[in-house]
Amino acid sequence: MDSAEYERKIAARFATFDQDGNGYIDREDFSAAARAVLAEFGVTARSDKGQDLFAGAEAFWQGMAGIADVDGDQRVTREEYITGAAKRLRDNPQRFAEIARPFLHAVIAVADADGAGPTPEAAARVLRVLGTPAELAGRIAAALDADGDGRIREEEILAAFAGYCGVEAPDA
Ligand code: CA
Ligand code: CA
Repeated sequence: MDSAEYERKIAARFATFDQDGNGYIDREDFSAAARAVLAEFGVTARSDKGQDLFAGAEAFWQGMAGIADVDGDQRVTREEYITGAAKRLRDNPQRFAEIARPFLHAVIAVADADGAGPTPEAAARVLRVLGTPAELAGRIAAALDADGDGRIREEEILAAFAGYCGVEAPDA
């Protein structure tokens, strides 16, 4: 991967976390993501699933801040993301994904209509509401159902998330 490609991918990852697009990642981005997912599936914030989702979003933010908020101002700038988070994501994406597990687990519970696991269609709705273009969301969600049984498992989502986050830096 050349450095332009790396820059492009890092910018895309940062934009994924910077949900409101104001140039830094903070707690509000994570709670906004939680609210958007709940609204999409008609789940209230005070329900058990809603409370789990907000708790997962807070844990995800705390994990992100612990890794990347170098100056401790409760904001992760693009520079902090690149120097702090991106390096850890690359070195150990699986471990980083564990930070996201409670959030992803709670999102799955919200998107899972019948307890058998979310369908690719439900996963695509989650991705769309978090800002993924519709066509791309459909393709990603279909790929998440690796064995094609029409259901997506938590481990498949976690592995995909780790893969997405682990961007290789250029050698030079
Ligand atoms: Ca933001
Ligand atoms: Ca900061």
